[in-house]
Amino acid sequence: MDYKISPEVEDYRLRLRAFVAEHILPLELDRGNLDSHEMIDLEPLERLRRLAKAAGLWAFQMPKERGGQGLDTVGMAVCYEEMAHSPFGPVVFNCAAPDDGTMICLNKILRDDAQKDRWLQPLIDGKFRSSFAMTEPMPGAGSDPSAMQTTAEKKGNNWVVRGHKWFITGAKGAQHFILIAKTSDDHRKGLTAFMFDADQPGWHIERRIPIMGPEEHGGHCELIFDGLEIPDENRLLEVGDGLKVTQIRLGTARLTHCMRWLGLAKRALEIASNYVTERKSFGSALSEHEGVQWMIGEAAKEIQIGRLLTMHAAWKLDQGDFARKEVSIAKIQVADTLHSSVDTAIQLCGARGYSKDTLLEWMYRYARQARLVDGASEVHKMVLSRTLLNEGTDFWSWN
Ligand SMILES: Cc1cc2nc3c(=O)[nH]c(=O)nc-3n(C[C@H](O)[C@H](O)[C@H](O)COP(=O)(O)OP(=O)(O)OC[C@H]3O[C@@H](n4cnc5c(N)ncnc54)[C@H](O)[C@@H]3O)c2cc1C
Repeated sequence: MDYKISPEVEDYRLRLRAFVAEHILPLELDRGNLDSHEMIDLEPLERLRRLAKAAGLWAFQMPKERGGQGLDTVGMAVCYEEMAHSPFGPVVFNCAAPDDGTMICLNKILRDDAQKDRWLQPLIDGKFRSSFAMTEPMPGAGSDPSAMQTTAEKKGNNWVVRGHKWFITGAKGAQHFILIAKTSDDHRKGLTAFMFDADQPGWHIERRIPIMGPEEHGGHCELIFDGLEIPDENRLLEVGDGLKVTQIRLGTARLTHCMRWLGLAKRALEIASNYVTERKSFGSALSEHEGVQWMIGEAAKEIQIGRLLTMHAAWKLDQGDFARKEVSIAKIQVADTLHSSVDTAIQLCGARGYSKDTLLEWMYRYARQARLVDGASEVHKMVLSRTLLNEGTDFWSWN
């Protein structure tokens, strides 16, 4: 691949850098700007979103004719990493999970403009939030979607949904949902995807699940479906295409996680670099001790490996490839890198790293989810292993 970044994307990157530095970094550490779940509060968020939109720094993943910036995946990799210099950057620019993945998916699969106007445009405009509901508590679907227990049964022109989902990010306050439910016992074509509106009867939020880290707006919720009726016209793709919709949604969404996590990992290293340059110990700056240099060098190496894997997967997606193994490898690597980079940064900052005077402890708690969400690392490794055993030497092909 050609690693040269277009002038347009480089211009976006520089403008994002300046916007984050001017408008977002100053409010990060003032807890008054955060909600009770440690995410940027809605009032400052809406103010910053208006500014970002006016500056043309909005919805980089969406087509220009619908109000986005129309970047390809490589361009997104550059911009997402830059905006995630602050953990609150992606949501300000409407590039945060879960809406980011939902928008990319809906833009690819919705049939016509009328459907896009109804389900997609309010997300692009930042008027709605959405959720993706797939995971279930025991004995339902977690890593293994074929264990799905939530059913959708066809009654006339409607599908009647009964079941139980959990860890559904953003559910509280989301205006609409993508739902994956079981429609038959067929092992490969047994799941179907639907859209539903939050104000429809027949479902409710049982609870917002408390977690160890900061939460996206709307939290991670447990949902009960006890007779939700979804018109057949709100089905996505064909009956039995639920796994396909999931793959389309998660394919790019996993990679955009990597892009944002790399921005955070770089930020952690930057905080540590500032500290070790200024802090003296045993007669010199910490940065002059070889042991410290090895820690910084190791973290920088890991981040750059993650960037190259992410870029390569992005480039393959832009060539029309599903890039399944490239996305899996990037996700495994970058999830580990985020955690290890923040851990290293905390160690290098000493007691200050453990305090709430920097964002490192926020990032450390947040980072732990990376190895779980959108497929646990072990499951990605299992899939990789199957692919390797299946493809043999073709696994290593550059084409
Ligand atoms: C913060 C957060 C946000 C989330 N948001 C959403 C969301 O918006 N929508 C949604 O649908 N889901 C969401 N999830 C759920 C997430 O996708 C699942 O946690 C993930 O798919 C793993 O499923 P599970 O938790 O049921 O783990 P389980 O399937 O119970 O697995 C537990 C562990 O067993 C191991 N394991 C499982 N299978 C294998 C295997 N074959 N080989 C080796 N080891 C294995 C892994 O270590 C795994 O972590 C979210 C989760 C978190 C933590």
